[in-house]
This record gives sequence, structure tokens and C-alpha cells, in this order.
Amino acid sequence: MPREILFNRWHGGARRCVTFSYDDGHVEDRRLVKLFNDCGLRGSFHLNSAECGNGKCVGLDEIRALYAGHEVSAHTHTHPFLNELPPARMAWEILEDRRLLEQAAGYPVRSMSWPYGQAGDAAVEAAKSCGIEYSRLVTEDHSFEPPADFLRWAPTCHHNSAPEWIEAFLARDYWKKQQLLYIWGHSFEFERQNTWGLIENVCRSIAGRADTWYATGIEIKDYLTAQRALCVSVDGSMVQNPSGVDVWLSVDGDAVRVPARAAVTL
Ligand SMILES: [Zn+2]
Repeated sequence: MPREILFNRWHGGARRCVTFSYDDGHVEDRRLVKLFNDCGLRGSFHLNSAECGNGKCVGLDEIRALYAGHEVSAHTHTHPFLNELPPARMAWEILEDRRLLEQAAGYPVRSMSWPYGQAGDAAVEAAKSCGIEYSRLVTEDHSFEPPADFLRWAPTCHHNSAPEWIEAFLARDYWKKQQLLYIWGHSFEFERQNTWGLIENVCRSIAGRADTWYATGIEIKDYLTAQRALCVSVDGSMVQNPSGVDVWLSVDGDAVRVPARAAVTL
């Protein structure tokens, strides 16, 4: 019998991955980021650069320090209904947001989330041509599976229903699958709906697990892209990793690391 080789491991050989994704960059992000940092959780923050520093939203000048260790990501410059815009304006909304956020963050901004969840075909084409590598929807996918289409990446759930989905995620004992929990929302909701207690419980219930990789959206995208590019020989005895990212796979149930740009005999 050939050995069983499965692409079901995350960074470090982890069985599970957890990520958070927050939109609009309101000042409540400060308290949320502190909570994430205290718990060792990580996420992506999708910001509208035209709104930054308006009193409701964080300032461009605080972005680099505030979101250190997380991902700064685009959400368009002014938060329009993208599907109603001419393609050139869609592109401008995305590129202007990228440009300003890149200056603020100090690195290329490679991703976004869809304002109002709108992801029509023209908007997806515009995002692609503007160098966007993934973009998050608001519709939910309760499969805990990695996405098939990074530009229409459905999260697992909104934070209000996270407690029940965390329970399902942790109860799922199906180790042959690669499992992802992806929670989204807006930090201003905690203030408006008086739900800081809910997100604190959510964070505590999912944090500090040895079998879990806590990652940002773009780290997950980079990892899955590298994983999907692995070349495994027909007899399962050799694997080559042409990417710049270390990848782990299961060989007869054991985690095996395939270093970046390396070939490994299994
Ligand atoms: Zn938004």
C-alpha cells in the first residue's frame, strides 16, 4: 500500500487554523486589537482610507503601530456600492485605498474585503487587475474548508454567531480535513450592541490551543497557495516545494515539514 499523503496541515503542522477579519477601521479597533494581542489571536483589518482620522475611524498615522502583527488590508477608499460604479472608478477606489494604506502600514497591501459584501463579476475583475489577492465576502460558509476562490472568500460566521460555530469547530474530530475558522465583523458593533463580553468570551474560548495556527488572512492565502503548488511523485516517495513558504503535510498521519524551495524524500 502506498503511504497516505494528505494536504491537511497548517503552518507548524497544526490541524486547525483560526483567523479574524474586521471591517471599516472604527476607533473601537484599538480595544479589539488589544484583546487579540492579549489572547495571541491574529487578524486582518480592512480599512477605508478616506474615512481614516475623521473622529469615528482610526488615523492613518496610527495604523502601523496599532495593527503591528496583524494585516492591514483594503476595503476601498470611500466604501461605495462597487457594483454600481464604472470599472475605472472601481479600480480607483481600490488603488487609492491601497496607495494610502501602504504608505501608512509600510508594506504592500495585497487584499481587501468587499464593501457591503458586493462582489459582482466586474468588481472581481477590477480587484484582480489592481493586484488584490483575496477579498472577503459577508455570506457565510459553515464547512470549515479553505476557500476555492480567494476573491470570493466566504467567512465561517459573524462574531454574533461565533460561540455556536466555535463549538462545532472544536467538536469536529475529522482529522483528515484541513480545518479553518474565519470570524468577521465590525468592532463598532461591540459598542453599539453592548457585546464586548461576547467577543471576549469568543477570544478566550479559541485562544492558546497547541493544535491551532493563529494567522492573518494573507498568511493563510500564502500558505494555501504554497500547499497547492507542492509536487508529489506518483509513488508518494518524493515531494518538492517550489514556493518560498514552508509547508507541512501528513504522511501516514505524521506531520512532515517540506521547507521552502526544498525537495524531501518521504
Ligand atoms: Zn464596510
